[in-house]
Amino acid sequence: MVALTTILVPAQTRFELDRNTYTLEEDVKIGREAAAEVSKELPLLNDARTKDWAEQVGRVLVAAIPAAFTHPPFRYTFDVINQQEINAFALPGGPMFLNRGMIEAGTSEAEVAGVMGHEIAHVALRHGTAQATKGQRFQLGALAGQLLGAVVGGTAGSIIAQGSQFGLGTYFLKFGREYERQADLLGAQILARAGYDPRQMANMFKTIESENGSGPPEWMSSHPNPGNRYEAILREAAMLQIRGNADSGEFASIKARLAGMSPALTAEEIAKGKGSAAGTARGGSTSGTRAPVRVAPPSNRNRTHRPTGFLVMTVPDNWLPATASDGVVTYAPEGGFFQGNNGQTGFTHGLQVGVLDNTTDNLERDTEQMLQSFARTNPQLRRQEGYRRENLGGRTGLTTVLSNVSDATGKPETVTVSTAQLQGNRVLFLIGVAPQSEAATYARAFERVRRDLRIADR
Ligand SMILES: [Zn+2]
Repeated sequence: MVALTTILVPAQTRFELDRNTYTLEEDVKIGREAAAEVSKELPLLNDARTKDWAEQVGRVLVAAIPAAFTHPPFRYTFDVINQQEINAFALPGGPMFLNRGMIEAGTSEAEVAGVMGHEIAHVALRHGTAQATKGQRFQLGALAGQLLGAVVGGTAGSIIAQGSQFGLGTYFLKFGREYERQADLLGAQILARAGYDPRQMANMFKTIESENGSGPPEWMSSHPNPGNRYEAILREAAMLQIRGNADSGEFASIKARLAGMSPALTAEEIAKGKGSAAGTARGGSTSGTRAPVRVAPPSNRNRTHRPTGFLVMTVPDNWLPATASDGVVTYAPEGGFFQGNNGQTGFTHGLQVGVLDNTTDNLERDTEQMLQSFARTNPQLRRQEGYRRENLGGRTGLTTVLSNVSDATGKPETVTVSTAQLQGNRVLFLIGVAPQSEAATYARAFERVRRDLRIADR
C-alpha cells in the first residue's frame, strides 16, 4: 500500500538537515533559557482554555513531524502572548509563542495551524542553530542572552543590546530564503500528515502580508517570502494526502472567547511595560529610571584600542572599553553605563562597535534592516535624516542620526549609526549614543572616531 502510494503520487519535497555544530541538548538549553525570559518579559494570555486549545493543535502537529526530524530531547510547548500584532515565533528545541492577534486574524483553525506547522518545521530542521553554525561559534551563555534580546529587545533596556543582537539573535529568529522555503514545504507536509489542509497555510500568509499597521509585519521580516511562496505551497500540497481531519471544532468558540476579552496589547504598549508582570516591576520606561549621573565630556586626548584583530579604534581617553559580547565592544565614560532592572547593561554616553554577519552585500539594505530591528524594540526611535555617505576607516560608509528616549533616564537621546562593508558578507557598525542636550559635543567626538578608525580585513 505504501509502495503504491509512492508510485501514484508525485514525490513530495525531501529535506536534509543542514550542518550543525550544536548538540540537540544545546538547542534545548538555548531555547529553554530564552523561553523563560520571554515568559517574564511578554504578557502571556491568562486564559487556560485558549492555551489548552493551542497546545492541542500543537500536539497534533508535533505528532506528525516526519521521523527523520523528530529529536527525542526536544520538548514542544505552546504559549499565547496577549499581543495584537500577527506574529508567532519558535525557539530552538521547541518552545513556541503565538500572538493572540494571530488567532484573531485566522479564519479557520487550519490557518493558525499553518503558521504553527511552519514554525515547528524551523525547529525540527534545527534552522536556528544551523544558522549559528554558519556564523561564528559563540559561547553558549552569551548566545541565549543575545537571542532574548532579539525577542524582547524593547523591554531589554537599551539600544546596545539591540546592536549586538542583530548580529547574533537573528541567527535564531530571522531566516533566509532557503530556510523559509524548507519551513513552508516541510510545514505543509506536517499539516497534511496531521490532518489539516496545507493550502490554509498559504492563506494565512496572505492575511499576514496584508495586515494593516505601521511598517511591514514583524512575522514577514523574520520569515521573508522565498519567492512564489503561495504557488510553491500549493504545488507541494497537490502532492500530499491529507490524513483524516484534525480540526478540533473549537476554533469558533475560542475566537468568540477572545472577542469578549479586553483588546490585546500592542507591541508599543508592551514595550512601555503595560500589562506584563515584568512591566509592573520595571515600572514602565520612565518611572524605573535611575537618578541622573554626572558624566564627563569626551576628553580631547585619545586612546587606541583593538576590539577585534582587524580593527583599531581611536577614542577619547576617558572612554573605557567594555565587551558587551563576543566582538562587540562599548566605549563609554565613567557613569555612562547603566544596568537595567533585568540585568542587561546599556549605555547613555559613548559608542559601541561590532560586526554583523551573514549580510547581503547591499550596505544600505543591511543598514535599513538593522534600523528596523532596533525600531521594533525601541518604539520611540525616529529617523532624523537620510543616509550620509562618508569615509569610515578608509572606505565609504553610511551614517544616519536618530532620536530615541533613553530607557535609563527617560530623557531624549541622539543615536548616531554608521556602517561600512567588510569582506565576506559582513558589516561593521558603530552606534553612538548621547543625551540630546549633549548631542553636539558627542557628534564631534563620534566624527573623530569615524575618521581615525582603521580597518585591515583584507
Ligand atoms: Zn519561517
